Amino acid sequence: MVAFNVPFLTGTEPACMEQAIQRRNLSGEGHYTKRCQTQLTELTNSPSALLTPSCTHALELVALLLDLEPGDEVIMPSFTFVSTANAFVLRGAVPVFVDIRPDTMNIDEQLIEAAITKRTRAIVVMHYAGVACEMDAIMATARRHQLIVVEDAAQCIGAHYRGRHLGSIGHFGTFSFHSTKNIHCGEGGALLINEPDFVKRAEIIREKGTNRKQFLRGEVDRYSWVHLGSSILPGELNAAFLWAQLTQLDAITAQRRRLWQDYYEGFATSEGEWELPTVPETARHNGHLFYLKCRDGVERQALIQHLKRAGIQSTFHYVPLHTAPAGQRYGRFVGPDRYTTHESARLLRLPLYPELTAVPQIIQQVQQFTRHYEGAQR
Ligand SMILES: *Cc1c(COP(=O)(O)O)cnc(C)c1O
Repeated sequence: MVAFNVPFLTGTEPACMEQAIQRRNLSGEGHYTKRCQTQLTELTNSPSALLTPSCTHALELVALLLDLEPGDEVIMPSFTFVSTANAFVLRGAVPVFVDIRPDTMNIDEQLIEAAITKRTRAIVVMHYAGVACEMDAIMATARRHQLIVVEDAAQCIGAHYRGRHLGSIGHFGTFSFHSTKNIHCGEGGALLINEPDFVKRAEIIREKGTNRKQFLRGEVDRYSWVHLGSSILPGELNAAFLWAQLTQLDAITAQRRRLWQDYYEGFATSEGEWELPTVPETARHNGHLFYLKCRDGVERQALIQHLKRAGIQSTFHYVPLHTAPAGQRYGRFVGPDRYTTHESARLLRLPLYPELTAVPQIIQQVQQFTRHYEGAQR
């Protein structure tokens, strides 16, 4: 059986976790949390990184920081994970969905301006598969309208746009360290704050709305409740596990990119007319995931079944949020849906993780499917 995902282990996780236990401080903002945060600021060139229990929590922290009011609007793609929208809906804001580009599956930067109204507060972009959105155009639009830009960079550790790490370009960037991502700690995440003005308030919100962190630094003589807040800190055991992974990031990214390239070249030179992912020249991806596009959803379902019979797990990705019950209740789609529904219905993800050895067999099985399916259907 070829699994769809196998979470990677470097082998040093238990030693790091043992170290954390020996320190007898397993709550938030401890030794490993600080090491991970420093490493993330160095990696991304962002002034501030805060570990969070998940990317979902990082997005919720952003929504709290923006002091959104009911009816405020947040522009985003519909082809994304639910947390991109949920975080803002929790504050009473309305997700305004715009169409994606068919080549990268990312938000179409040309369509954002037409979706802006008096109520628009932020643009949330999601870099699908670790392939960058057109950030220059997006930042220019945001500047013209004085909007905040949030990068949902959940899939983007080790990925860049014009040499800049994803998540460090907008006002905020969020990472996921869920076990399905390139590096992980089971459940985990981080928030990059690229506007220093927001850092103090983020520290307060994350510490239950108190200025405890200023107190610990000796800046105030006691701490108290000063803002709306929550507990958005991971414990040290998770941070220690993540540290073990972070130290191996370059090797993990390189291995994933090699496998991605094996798929790409294998399909590019094989018979059949599979549409392959596009990576613009401005983007350097991190081998987060590999996908093919089938002709339609029917062909995709048949291919999933064919691969399953051959012992290979494959899966599709997001059901567009504006077609889901909660998306219809809380959000709205602006402009025509030329690509979101059509392209997402035919996208098929193939297994990709550092220990994968079956790329040649997977390509072979897809080719075999092409021969049979084409004989029957075309
Ligand atoms: C994985 C993912 C998330 C959620 O990450 P969690 O850490 O599980 O909360 C959010 N957005 C995108 C685009 C993702 O891929």
